[in-house]
Amino acid sequence: MTLRKIAHLGHPVLRRPAREVGLTELQSEETQRLIDDMIETKRDAHGAGIAAPQVHEPVRIAVIEVIDNPRYPYKPPAGLSVIVNPVLEYLGDETYMNNEGCLSVPGMRGELRRRVAVRVSALDRHGTPFVTEVRGLTAGTYQHEVDHLDGVVFLDRVEDTRTLATWEQFDTHHRDAFVERIMRFQQEEGS
Ligand code: ZN
Repeated sequence: MTLRKIAHLGHPVLRRPAREVGLTELQSEETQRLIDDMIETKRDAHGAGIAAPQVHEPVRIAVIEVIDNPRYPYKPPAGLSVIVNPVLEYLGDETYMNNEGCLSVPGMRGELRRRVAVRVSALDRHGTPFVTEVRGLTAGTYQHEVDHLDGVVFLDRVEDTRTLATWEQFDTHHRDAFVERIMRFQQEEGS
């Protein structure tokens, strides 16, 4: 496995909608290697997820996994999930205010609304279709990664740019209040 270089904000690959992956292409050695490299790169950078355009590959593949994440210690654990050609369906209108960061937007966090519950239909890395329903912060992570496949970054969804903060300033001034609010939300959600 190889660590891939992460594309940063301003690179055009982050702004182009990624293309769907065919079954033969998905099962090729090259794409399987890409998926292994994305997992490795995500873990190395302590991301909650990573999408292929973030490693300069404009295809609809993303990886999500949360285990003891130092960037987001309050996020509930989410086992490794590889989603190929994912389609999201909102379950209800309910939203919550999340605070997100992104490996492609170094040093910056901000507040934005995410849907509380989504249904994800996708192929796994071998091409088998599956459907899963996710809620709360995990649902936010899925929405963040699928946004990348459409050329959208979290900054586009920040409603009030005054909530933008560097990670250092977030830790100093905003983390405690956010974590308290989001833990209460997760308890209510049971997620
Ligand atoms: Zn991101």
